[in-house]
Amino acid sequence: MPSTPFSRFIVLLERTMEQLELSAQERALLREPQFVHRQSIDLVRDDGSHLVVPAYRVQHSDARGPYKGGIRFHPAADLEEVKALAALMSIKTAVVGIPFGGAKGGVQCNPKELSSAELQRLSRAYVRTFAEHLGPERDIPAPDVNSTPAIMAWMRDEYEKMTNSFAPAFITGKPMSYGGSLGRDTATARGGFFLLQELMQSEGMQARHLRVILQGFGNAGANMAHFLHHAGCTIVAISDSQGGIVAEEGLDPVRIRQYKNQTGSVKGEYCEGSVCDIERMKLDHVRHVTNEELLELPCDILIPAALDTVISERNAAKIQARYIVELANGPTTPEADAILQDRGITVLPDVLANAGGVTVSYFEWVQGRSGERWTAERVDAELKRTMLDAFSAVRAEVRQNGVTYREAAFILGVRRIVESMRARGWVG
Ligand code: NAD
Repeated sequence: MPSTPFSRFIVLLERTMEQLELSAQERALLREPQFVHRQSIDLVRDDGSHLVVPAYRVQHSDARGPYKGGIRFHPAADLEEVKALAALMSIKTAVVGIPFGGAKGGVQCNPKELSSAELQRLSRAYVRTFAEHLGPERDIPAPDVNSTPAIMAWMRDEYEKMTNSFAPAFITGKPMSYGGSLGRDTATARGGFFLLQELMQSEGMQARHLRVILQGFGNAGANMAHFLHHAGCTIVAISDSQGGIVAEEGLDPVRIRQYKNQTGSVKGEYCEGSVCDIERMKLDHVRHVTNEELLELPCDILIPAALDTVISERNAAKIQARYIVELANGPTTPEADAILQDRGITVLPDVLANAGGVTVSYFEWVQGRSGERWTAERVDAELKRTMLDAFSAVRAEVRQNGVTYREAAFILGVRRIVESMRARGWVG
């Protein structure tokens, strides 16, 4: 049987549960999500026709706190993918030690084919469909691939109308004008950047000597490119869904983003401009590569920041990076992990490397509940502390057990979830 995102998660989970010698009852509780909510949404298009799309909310575990996780709008967002992402959220929130469980939402559609009005109707319909399972103390959604702050605002508004309440803590990743937190827009990249800085320091690497490749130029990838460029790293190649560009002497991500913002035509909520449109970018010495080729180019640090399963047994032997920092969720398969480990390539796994997003979502939720407004400096300092604490806890497991960073993060996360399950008396 071909593997699925969820079956790949289970491979890692089983290995971890074996290592931790969990009971049969504990293993059974961790394997399956607590709730799987699935319903079709009937979207009335602008021309009056109907588009029926599958929608999901999977709640994996609330052992450590309310369910927490983004909502993905993507053609590949099927139940197997959403289940895997929900389970990864449980591990991730435990690794960074924030009092949330794990959940994920998905709408299986191509939102780029929708008008802004259609996207708003779809977003509001999602909330109406799953409202009884959501709530500031029950399950708090957030953005993910193709879901933007504007979508979060429509969703909060729909929930407040339905419940006749003021509920800023219903959802995170909101715009600043409607209950968002400073620093949430850059949080995923910022968290990954803090880890990389720490790694560079401990391994004696200097930013100006580091050559970096990023796949994906959205929220996670573009902001990371910006931080690394600013720190002095050379951004050798970047890509988006249209393909990649390479410049041996380095690309300027600020200029590329400006270009995208200025000239990308906007349909609905999405920019259609591509980072690979070099002719209009007027960049010299830039060549095109496919997304597959990009991953195999020589570099020090490779940062997958788009979709899952891009590093598999097909290309793991050809990766030429020394470090992989997973800003995307699930970019590396377990088979690829084994090959990379044999080749001495260090992988900072998704459940650690991209946890900055959910961490600042937690800060946004705290602000929503308390009515406080945190300064940008406070958000940045708390994020740094949280990420570095998690990194040192994971690194302690790496050193103690002689395992990879991914195995160590899973050991730490699963142990913390099970400790809560035991404390709550769920397991004997
Ligand atoms: P986004 O929608 O802002 O950007 C996605 C980027 O990936 C875009 O540049 C898009 O063009 C590119 N892309 C899409 N399909 C591609 C393909 N086949 N090949 C190469 N590039 C492709 O999404 P994002 O929020 O930046 O999320 C990217 C990844 O990071 C996802 O795996 C997401 O789950 C993960 N992540 C994001 C956050 C967050 O806070 N945004 C937090 C944790 C994890």
